[in-house]
Amino acid sequence: MTAEETRRADIVEIGRRLHQRAYVASNDGNISVRLDAERLLTTPKSVSKGFMTPDMLVITDYAGRKLAGERDPSSELPMHLAVYRRRADVTAVVHAHPPVATGFAVAGIPLDRAVLAEVVTTLGSIPIAEYGTPSTQELADAVDRHIAAHDGLLLANHGAITVADGLLPAYYKMETIEHFARISVVARILGRERLLSREEVNRLQELRGTYGIAAPAPICPEGSDGIVAGGDAACQTLEAPSAPGARLVDDVPAVPGAAAPPAHGETEIRLTYRELTAIVEDAVNRLRDREPAP
Ligand SMILES: [Zn+2]
Repeated sequence: MTAEETRRADIVEIGRRLHQRAYVASNDGNISVRLDAERLLTTPKSVSKGFMTPDMLVITDYAGRKLAGERDPSSELPMHLAVYRRRADVTAVVHAHPPVATGFAVAGIPLDRAVLAEVVTTLGSIPIAEYGTPSTQELADAVDRHIAAHDGLLLANHGAITVADGLLPAYYKMETIEHFARISVVARILGRERLLSREEVNRLQELRGTYGIAAPAPICPEGSDGIVAGGDAACQTLEAPSAPGARLVDDVPAVPGAAAPPAHGETEIRLTYRELTAIVEDAVNRLRDREPAP
């Protein structure tokens, strides 16, 4: 197989996996890879990514003009082009709508809490790129602002995008984001998340160097929002409270502004039967007062 044939086969396989895992519905999602300095290979529009064949793929230049292929490239290609322009180290881009991660993108909740060591070490944080109408330069610009510092982004009210040096690594990052989102949902349903301490996050960041994990930017110092003067992200914002000597920190509200879950025995309210009856009676009487006279 030539290098191009291998990439065609890989894109078809990744499309099949995206569809199988329900990361896309209908004709959603798109995948691309650099072929050389002038050309990239990408998925066509209006085709289910679960049922592609290698000949369906399209070759374009880095301005998005079609060079070869019977079909047209995805209308979401501008987002991919923005990534390739910004990140010389990236050779592949995967975009999908995995439902749990996309739920976070719809709720406006970034995946930026230091919860899983593996995610902190590899992706760091997964922020939300501001909403842009799909298929427009507006969305590409939103991606552009964050992609310098991140290998994975949520797209507000839309989906997620992951990038890497290589098609499979980019795809695996999409799996990691969705898996992380699922775990986060379960922890939040259970009512609490124990966060990794800032000190533990710093230790994990050092592991990046030890294991040769390529990260596009360092984790931001505590309290920094990661956005520099030009509006671009320069580091990865991660919620990790300082707790010298501790690896985990308990009971931080899962949603900004929400109350922390009560610590056992501290803020629990106990009422006697008499007190409870009085409260209920009072509520019933007030309702009765509001009723129109017969
Ligand atoms: Zn999309």
